[in-house]
Amino acid sequence: MPATMRTAPISDARIAELVADLTATNGTTAEVIAPFTGTVLHSLPVSNAGDVQDAAAAARVAQQAWRAAGFAHRRAVLLTAHDLLLERAKELLDILQTESGKTRGQAFEEVFEAASVARYYAVSARNVLKTRRRRASIPVVIQTRVSHKPKGLIGVITPWNYPIALSIMDVVPALASGNAVVQKADNQGALSILASRRAFIDAGVPEALWAVVAGDGTEIGNAVVDAADYVCFTGSTATGTKVGERAAATLTGASLELGGKNPLIVLDDAKPAEAAANAAYAVFSSMGQLCVSIERIYVDRTIATEFIRAFAERTRSLRQGSALNFSTDVGSLTSAAQLERVSRHVDDAVAKGATVLAGGRARPDLGPYFFEPTVLTGVTPGMECFAHETFGPVVAITVVEGEAEAIAAANDSEFGLNASVFTGSRARGRRIADLLDVGSVNINEGYRASFSSTDAPMGGMKHSGMGRRNGAEGLLRFVEARTVAESTGIMNLPRTGEEWEKMTGLMTAALKVLKALRRR
Ligand code: NAD
Repeated sequence: MPATMRTAPISDARIAELVADLTATNGTTAEVIAPFTGTVLHSLPVSNAGDVQDAAAAARVAQQAWRAAGFAHRRAVLLTAHDLLLERAKELLDILQTESGKTRGQAFEEVFEAASVARYYAVSARNVLKTRRRRASIPVVIQTRVSHKPKGLIGVITPWNYPIALSIMDVVPALASGNAVVQKADNQGALSILASRRAFIDAGVPEALWAVVAGDGTEIGNAVVDAADYVCFTGSTATGTKVGERAAATLTGASLELGGKNPLIVLDDAKPAEAAANAAYAVFSSMGQLCVSIERIYVDRTIATEFIRAFAERTRSLRQGSALNFSTDVGSLTSAAQLERVSRHVDDAVAKGATVLAGGRARPDLGPYFFEPTVLTGVTPGMECFAHETFGPVVAITVVEGEAEAIAAANDSEFGLNASVFTGSRARGRRIADLLDVGSVNINEGYRASFSSTDAPMGGMKHSGMGRRNGAEGLLRFVEARTVAESTGIMNLPRTGEEWEKMTGLMTAALKVLKALRRR
């Protein structure tokens, strides 16, 4: 479709205001396409490596005062940002939908997550990071404390699929722990990021403290990695591996949130119709363009016929469209590249013998990148969608004989991000969760139970990444632990051979007593 006409519920003036917040000085721009229409949404100013260095230098200066301002100040700012995000939800939803092609409901998931994360870290950061006494090896003689020092400048690199939620999940804990941020936005998500960042700036985050740059992945991404004291990357396993290697070369720490091929197990005691409705949301949310969405379903033979019928019916009943309100259940893919990838996976599977139970084709009548939610059976190892991430609205259903086979099939993947278990017994679900090689397991939910649990860590095993966001784990990424241990002066530790001779008996006895008391 020709990309000539501009279409947006957001005015040109508002777009100009938002993109003015980018650090981008060289005057070049990149066209961003609106997925619902295929027309040009706006021309995004793009940054160069020099812009990243300038932004990093300014952010480092701003970080000094932000760190010194202390937890109480940062807490007040983040709580105000929480309120502003909610006050501005309508505009955020409009921008998110227009830039990503997702539905209103799935856009709201992002705003909900962003506000939850802002509140969570505002309230919890001080307690997690406060200086605490630790056990000393020799009680009374030595006192030991651990404090936390912010790492300084955090580089955040984000993809296009959940631009607000994924930014906030890294940026807010970085700020809450006293750091500055230089963020590389994907061009496609930049407006959403800038609009949500504005809520934080208006709440009191200094502009230079959270800089946003956009542009070429390799040039700008490399510059962000090189400038930062710690890197948070969210994106594909291929790019994340490169980012990890580059960071490692300078001993810079990194958390890598990468791809998945997430399984959902439907056990013999699940209620088929209810499981089908919940599973359909887990598969087709944001058109499957979600790291934790489900691409493989393993259903027990005893309920397979009923479940598969209900799941296919539910899939066919989903309302697809581009309305900027809550009247649709699924939206559009985000780009031509996504449409090409999804079509290729489905065509390849069908050509090699898979059966299409629902969907299976593009819907140009709805918009240029629309593709129907698609259910496949008979997907086998030679097909591209068997083991590779489709990152689209396509699921393969496989019938299994009992839970052992389901667990083995679920674990048979190079990825280990998210999994789901549908069962009539939550205790059984928890038992199976322990056997799954993934960073999060949802029982009788697809991904939202764990994704929205802001107090609990989120991340991947195997090729799905390393490190965790959310919870205390998500905060501790951004600080260096510093141990301060002091001699109390009650007695000196031995220094000479003579002093050692006198002390060894006492020290040996102390070790035995501490063990007898089971003291740590
Ligand atoms: P991508 O890896 O192509 O791009 C991600 C970001 O990295 C973009 O901003 C891109 O411009 C930038 N980039 C590209 N090359 C770079 C380089 N050499 N150095 C540094 N940065 C570079 O991923 P994508 O297609 O935008 O996103 C989809 C992928 O992200 C999927 O695989 C999905 O599963 C994954 N993802 C994972 C999570 C998670 O939390 N685990 C969340 C969302 C998406």
